[in-house]
Amino acid sequence: MADIDVRDRGDDSARPMCYQCLQPYTAVDADRHTEPVNCDDCPRCKLMPACYTCRNMYCACEVHQG
Ligand SMILES: [Zn+2]
Ligand SMILES: [Zn+2]
Ligand SMILES: [Zn+2]
Repeated sequence: MADIDVRDRGDDSARPMCYQCLQPYTAVDADRHTEPVNCDDCPRCKLMPACYTCRNMYCACEVHQG
């Protein structure tokens, strides 16, 4: 990506970046990126936020299978 000036793009720089899906998010979908989902089906994605995509091939979790 080019290192361009984004100051005029508005609120992009103000958005926190999600550590799970690496997408910037707004307050509107902050829950999806920060709220732990206790899905209980799989030890790998348990308590991960809803945006997390589990790569466990045996995962039976609907929330984290995208
Ligand atoms: Zn996220
Ligand atoms: Zn899960
Ligand atoms: Zn899983």
